[in-house]
Formats: sequence, structure tokens, C-alpha cells
Amino acid sequence: MNMNKKSLVFAVLGIAALALFPVMFHNPYYLHLAETILIYAILLFGLDIVVGYTGQVSLGHAALFGIGSYTAGVLYMKLGLPFLVTVPASIAVTAAFGAVLALPALRVTGPYLAMVTLAFGTIVQILINEMTFLTEGPMGIKLMKPSPFGHKLDEVEFFYLVALLMVLSLIVVHRIVKSHLGRAFQALRDSPIASDCMGVSVYRYKVYAFVISAALAGLSGSLYAYSEQYISPNTYNFELTILFLLAVIMGGRKTRSGALIGAAIVVTLPSLLADIELFRQIATVAAVIGVVSAVFLLAKKRKTVREIAVPVASTVGMAIFAYRLENITDWRLTVFGLMTLFVVYYLQDGIVGFLRGITGKGGPRGVHDSAAIAAADEAHAWADSDQAATVATNLLSAKQVLMQFGGLKALNQVDLHIVKGSVHGLIGPNGSGKSTMMNVLTGIYKPTAGEVEFNGAVISGSTPSAIALGGVARTFQNVQLFGEMTATENVLVGLHHTFKSNVLDVMLHTPRYKREEREARVRAASILQFVGLASLANEEARNLPYGKQRLLEIGRALGLNPKLLLLDEPAAGLTAPDIKELVAIIRKIRQHGITIILIEHHMDVVMSISDTVTVLDFGQKIAEGKPAAVQTDPKVIEAYLGGSVSEEPLVADTDPALPLARN
Ligand code: ADP
Ligand code: MG
Repeated sequence: MNMNKKSLVFAVLGIAALALFPVMFHNPYYLHLAETILIYAILLFGLDIVVGYTGQVSLGHAALFGIGSYTAGVLYMKLGLPFLVTVPASIAVTAAFGAVLALPALRVTGPYLAMVTLAFGTIVQILINEMTFLTEGPMGIKLMKPSPFGHKLDEVEFFYLVALLMVLSLIVVHRIVKSHLGRAFQALRDSPIASDCMGVSVYRYKVYAFVISAALAGLSGSLYAYSEQYISPNTYNFELTILFLLAVIMGGRKTRSGALIGAAIVVTLPSLLADIELFRQIATVAAVIGVVSAVFLLAKKRKTVREIAVPVASTVGMAIFAYRLENITDWRLTVFGLMTLFVVYYLQDGIVGFLRGITGKGGPRGVHDSAAIAAADEAHAWADSDQAATVATNLLSAKQVLMQFGGLKALNQVDLHIVKGSVHGLIGPNGSGKSTMMNVLTGIYKPTAGEVEFNGAVISGSTPSAIALGGVARTFQNVQLFGEMTATENVLVGLHHTFKSNVLDVMLHTPRYKREEREARVRAASILQFVGLASLANEEARNLPYGKQRLLEIGRALGLNPKLLLLDEPAAGLTAPDIKELVAIIRKIRQHGITIILIEHHMDVVMSISDTVTVLDFGQKIAEGKPAAVQTDPKVIEAYLGGSVSEEPLVADTDPALPLARN
């Protein structure tokens, strides 16, 4: 509640500042500067969705901004269309181009994506320049301030209009990123593979993110055209795109205040760097802030001397440098570059993140007490679903599965039949193909030959997200949580399939969306309680102890409400008490009628809870049957003692020397 009150105070102050600005500052230059900051902020809210939330790089946003400007400009000039038509048209056209920009993001990431989006930017700029019949080329297009309903807006009125649209964009973006859509964006950043396996299609949500982001760039671009009253191609260049990116990172990604601060910095930066006196003052202030916060952080023991030495030295160095400089203009780009480096190395969470670090409120966000209380009433309610009858039918059948990597047959004609309601152990030395089998069953790998049937339908060849939505959930041998998201949010990604709301529902907070969000949170809380993580609900997944991370992964998988749960070495790296807890949880899950495939190196665990055990060795099935029979099978003992396990130092903690010991 406290949190909400604080945001309310900020909101009121912010709106008051926007309302009073034109009253306080009559200078049209300042008004225009402030207006540009607001217009950039709209674009940065959108860019942050792509960069901050989905973790993709885009060097194409200056081009999207340009497309927004030119759509409005061309419609205004060629057809004389009014503002109320040109702006929505800009949003729609730019959103469509956003989908085009998303296409490469579906294939490549990182530096490759940066290059492709950069190429997009260059091509758009060239096209604007060359398509003279439409855009007037380098001549540019002149516009008049809009006159909605027959009244021509003056500078101040237009400022208010921009301010209003900025506030609306802020609210809309905030709602989107806090919804199941925003969680999908973050999930695909932290682990695309786990997103897909939770039924959240990486493909689809990357496109959504780019389209929403582009729509905002379109709005921003069209407002820019009316604000400047003149547009020409060379505005939308490489430098602008870098400036946008710097603004998001410098301000602080994943915050709206960060976007506003970033916009303010990049808009005012060129003029700040033009005046040596001003630059000296700013460098001095930065150095003072650097030294004071360093002393503060040291006193509070949040950082060590080593950690803060370089950033403090560089802010102080910059201040000294500023006083030794005679002329700033020659050094502008250098200073600019140094600032970029500084931000990338020492302000990765931006200014907003830095302030949070100083005030020590970095921790759990968005406490939802109401959900927790409701959960107590409804503990364990997550499994109110189908209590599958334990008739001996096969829930899943893999037939003659062959999985070839080059010359290696990781799986060689393997048959696997999983009886409904059973716990099916899958064991074998390292490299025998267990995880590969799991990847085939969940659609991550497409088998070279053979097929997989689940619940009466062939699933081999389907996408991982389709298979997940069909009722197959899994965990990963190397934990694949959404690190920057809380435990609750991780489980909520598993519950993504319970949402029918679309973007409009989210933007308008319709009753349908509110109900879905409320119900999902109640369910998430009861799942967390089920796996024993209720007290850690608001902790970021990356901060959880390893054993708890593994349990959280199981909880997230349960969110899918699966018929079949695949666990890939859930006990690996766990302490003895953690393993006990895990076994109890697996038993409880089974009691809820969920079929389980369990890959595990801890033989006591597998043997005590499995109904059937299948043994793989070098991609082939070498034994199958009741645990007791498998354990004494000479072929199995041979496979384990044959050496391949003890050669693997990586799994030393799983006690390879006594693989079949039972207690
Ligand atoms: P296990 O889980 O039983 O320890 P895996 O299924 O991970 O074994 O691996 C089985 C074999 O397949 C190993 O030799 C491994 O190197 C190989 N393998 C697994 N995935 C790939 C891949 N994507 N490309 C090439 N080889 C792979
Ligand atoms: Mg494995």
C-alpha cells in the first residue's frame, strides 16, 4: 500500500509539473525542449519493451520514428488529412513495419540482430530520401500545427496535447508490461527455451513486442512532425538510433521514469556539451555525487573499495579534465563516447537503478498481499483438475525414435511407453541420451525418425509451445528459470495459458483481465505453497538458493496444469534435506494424478518412487522393468560400471561410484 501511495504522490507531482511548465516558462525554446523530451519519452517507453523487457537489440528505432513522422507528413501534404486521421494512421503503419523488423529477430539475436536492424534503419532512410514523389526527398515536408475540430492549436495547447498523450502512453505501457504480456516478454529474454516449454511462444511474443514498440514509435514520430513543423530525411539517422538506445540504458531499463530521465538527458545533452562553463558545472556535480555516494555505499558496506575505485576516479577525472579544457566543441564526441562507456560498465541498471541501489530498495517489487491471503484459503487448489484414473493405458508412446546429431546416434530406435498415472524412471550413464529423449518428447528436437504419440495424438513435429499447451510440462537439467522475475512471476508464466485477455483488455483493465490476473495470482500462490516456497514468493528467482530454484521450476511447470511432467535430474546438486523435500513433492504430484517421467542419478530416489524404470546406454534401451529387476540386471550393472560414469567429473556430487546403491 505504501508503495501505491508513493506512486500516487509521484503521479500527482508529475502531472502538476506538466500542467505548470508552460505557465512557469514562457520562453518558447524551453517549451519546445520539454515537448521534445515528452515526444522522445513515448518512443523510449516502446524501445524499452524491446530492449529492457524482451532483451533484444534494435538499431532500427530511428527508422520507425521516421516512418511515423513521414506517414503523418505525407498524408498531411498529399491528401490534406487532419491530425485525428494522420496520427492513428502513423501508429498503424509504423506498427506494421514493426512486424517487418521483428522478422529478423525471430532468426538471429545479439550482434547479428543489431546489424540487421541497423540495415533496416539505413534502408528506410535511403528510401525516404529517394522516394521523392512521396516524401519530397531531401527537401523535406512542412506541416502546420494541427487544428482538431476547427481550432488551430497554439504552441502551449500543442504542448498539453503531447503531455496528455505521453501520460496515456505511460499508463498503457505500464499496464502492458505488468500483465501476462509483459511477463511473456521478460520470460523470453531470460530463457527462450523455458518460455516455449511453458506454452509461451517466443515467436509470437517477439512479434508482439516489436509491434507494440513500433506503434509507440509511430505515435512519437507523428507528434514530432507536428512539433517541428518540418521533417527531412537526415533527422532519422544512425546517431539518433544510438541516442535512443543510450537513453534507455542510461535512464534505466524496465522503468518508465528511466525513459523520461533518458529522454531528458539525450535532448539536453547536445546543448550541455556545447557550453564549456555548463559542462564544467555538470562534471563537478557528477564528481560530487560520485564521491558522496561512494562514501555512503562504503559506510553501509554495500560495496568494496575495489568496486567503486574506478567509477569514482573517472567522475573526478572527468571534472578535472573539464577545467583543463579550453574548448569543448572538439571534444564533444569523445566526452559522449566516454559517457557511453561509463554507463555500459558502471550504470547497467541506469540512473533509476543507481538511485534504487542508494536508497536500498532494489528488492521485491509488487507485493500482492491479497493474493497470498486468498491462497491460504485455497491451498493446493491448483490440482482441482482432472484426477486421472489410473487405468493402465499409455499416456505417451515413443516409437522407434532415432535422433541423430551428425554421425552420432544420441537415440537409436528407442521405444518408450509411459503408463498413465505412473512414475517412470529414466536412467543411464552420462551421455546415454536421457536429456535428448526429453527434448524429443517436448518438441525441442524433431526426431530424425520415429514418432511420439501423446494422449492419442502424434506430437512429434509440433512446436514446443503447442506440446506444452497440450499438457506436457518439464524442468531442465541446467535450471532455466526467469532470473529477473520473482518466484510468483515465474509461476505466473506457467499460468499464462489461463489468460484469454488481449492487448485491449490489458490496456483498458477490463473486468475480464482483472479477474484473470486475480485468479492467476491466487493459483500461483497456492502452487508456491505446494512446493514450499510461499515465504520466498517475491524473491527474484536468481537470488534463490539452488535447491529452491529447482523446486520453483517444478512449481512453474505445475502452472501448466500438465497431464505429464518431465523432470530432468531434479535432485542434481541438492543437499540431503532438499532431496527429501523433493521426493515428498514428487509423491504429492503423483497423488494428484499427474504422470511423471523422472531422469535421475540418485538411484535411491529413482528406485524408491518409480513404478517402471527404463535404462539407456549409448542411445539404446538396454533394460526396462520394475526397479528391483532393473537394479540386478547384469547389462545395467555393466553399463554403469563400464566406466562412462566415473569418467565424468561433472557429476561427482551425484555419487557415481555407487550408482545402484540403495538405502
Ligand atoms: P544424458 O542426458 O543422458 O546425459 P544427453 O541426452 O544430454 O545425455 O546426450 C546424449 C548424447 O547426445 C551426448 O553424446 C551428447 O553430446 C549428444 N548431444 C545432445 N544434444 C546434442 C546436440 N544438440 N548436438 C550434438 N550432440 C548432442
Ligand atoms: Mg542429461
